[in-house]
Amino acid sequence: MRRKFIKAIDIALAKLLRFSPVRGQQLFVYAFHGVLPDLDILGQNLTDPYQPITLRDIERVIVRLKESGVSFVTGREIAAQAVRYPAAWLTFDDGYANNLQLLPLLRRLDVPATIFVATGNVESGEAYWWDVLFREGMQRGKNMPDIARQREEMKSLPPQKIRQQLIDMFGAESLRPKADIDRPLTPGELCSLAKEPLIEIGNHTHNHCILTLGDGACRRREISACNAYLQKITGSLPVSIAYPNGDFDQQILKITESLGLKVGVTCLPFRNRAGSTQKPPDSLRLGRFAGLRSDKLERELSLSLAPVGLAQSLAERMSKRTPYQTETQCTPKRE
Ligand SMILES: [Zn+2]
Repeated sequence: MRRKFIKAIDIALAKLLRFSPVRGQQLFVYAFHGVLPDLDILGQNLTDPYQPITLRDIERVIVRLKESGVSFVTGREIAAQAVRYPAAWLTFDDGYANNLQLLPLLRRLDVPATIFVATGNVESGEAYWWDVLFREGMQRGKNMPDIARQREEMKSLPPQKIRQQLIDMFGAESLRPKADIDRPLTPGELCSLAKEPLIEIGNHTHNHCILTLGDGACRRREISACNAYLQKITGSLPVSIAYPNGDFDQQILKITESLGLKVGVTCLPFRNRAGSTQKPPDSLRLGRFAGLRSDKLERELSLSLAPVGLAQSLAERMSKRTPYQTETQCTPKRE
């Protein structure tokens, strides 16, 4: 209720201030996942439709940000402190092969982006567990809220337990992706992408592990296994990380820093001041807007760019108060 009230105020403020130019020493980070060629493909029920976004939507985001006068960066420029503010950073989580569609668009508009890869899926070729759960649930006639609830429950399990549960429920064959839309990058595609000047490859843990759920050894193992795999395939170590589910705590920030990562992104929706991007721990818990989706694109973009916002102030305060764990959400909508 309180969150809805805050959002309503922020939307009104954003409308009032929608023509204000973006000024100052600020960094806006945006989170996306898989990119759809169009919304019709959702009818195949191969991917969890939570926050669907199309290639055309990404183009709209870039055009709007360019009109706002921001420059585009990735974690590499932030780590090197070579950012011209105000700046925007486009990030794509998980390592979906459908992210390859972005390349012609990014080249045409000359905009860089970061792909945060859960390397275990690249290595195994298995579909992402939430897509398997969704696809198989829909095939069995379940409704979307029930599947979403089950997804949120399963999130609290370790990755190997989640995998075993899927096998027990749907059989080992269910782990195989069905099309290009739901498959992870292959090692060859990851290697080629890493060579693209406009693409940065980042760490998203090896098994898409929600790090706050594991002990210290498990956290270190997940981050360093991803680093090692990326180094093996791409020839270099990443400088940035996106924490799965956006969850982190002080120990995770320390481990991340000790493993050589310089920049980390959460799912706390606030703009970053230039000062906070310069060194750990602040540079390892950057705010990131993860609410942009096809049907709410303009609204969410305006909210992120509005010069004032209550939700942003609260999120920024929360980032300092670790551990931070994302609230359970279980209402995927398809409109
Ligand atoms: Zn993810």
